[in-house]
Amino acid sequence: MTRREDLFGLARATKGFMPDDEGAALFDAALAACRAAVGPFIVEVGAWCGKSTVYLGAAAEESGAVVLSVDHHHGSEELQEGWADFDPELVDPADGRVNTLPAWRRTIADAALEGCVVGLVGDSGTVARHVRHGVTFCFIDGGHGHDVAWADYRAWAPLIGEGGVLAIHDVFEDPRDGGRPPYELYRHALSTEFTELAATGSLRVLRRSRRRAGE
Ligand code: SAH
Ligand code: MG
Repeated sequence: MTRREDLFGLARATKGFMPDDEGAALFDAALAACRAAVGPFIVEVGAWCGKSTVYLGAAAEESGAVVLSVDHHHGSEELQEGWADFDPELVDPADGRVNTLPAWRRTIADAALEGCVVGLVGDSGTVARHVRHGVTFCFIDGGHGHDVAWADYRAWAPLIGEGGVLAIHDVFEDPRDGGRPPYELYRHALSTEFTELAATGSLRVLRRSRRRAGE
């Protein structure tokens, strides 16, 4: 088994919300973007237990990039008790709050990706204020409520470098399939300088155009 197959197997076995085909598409898109860039780095917004992080980490490892994986690890609103995706196994008995950081760290350690995956534990907007411009590949899969999803877009989209790539998860054209905000971000991005590169399931991959000389 190759290292890549190994990592894909681990990602598939990790708890989370990334179907296998979308994970492979996320990997392909991140690898292509990082191979084409100088000093590539990936930002992941919304890691949960590390499933998507492993796909991104596999792309980083193969291309000499680094993943900055941002999550406060307390779960989005829609992952709390009373919602369909709530997971009581992820509640910290010390304070009764969801805490996915131990599971995330275990995943990255099991994947032996600690050399190229860096966890940033905190609020996405706060982290974004301290990250330099020039993100090669930004994967947005944080909270899906209107305000949080737009806050992520407004914080991160401007940090993507020219020719850089924005991937958005849980984009559903049909409202019966899922919530609106990720779809709205995707439509908005297309109305600005982003163009679509690929679509797999609910994953949309967009590239920021390069400025032409004289613009
Ligand atoms: N990409 C994951 C799923 C992410 S679920 C997978 O492949 O399985 C969404 C994650 O976004 C949750 O872990 C939640 O804690 C995180 N999140 C939501 N709002 C956030 C915010 N404002 N700052 C940081 N993380 C946030
Ligand atoms: Mg998702």
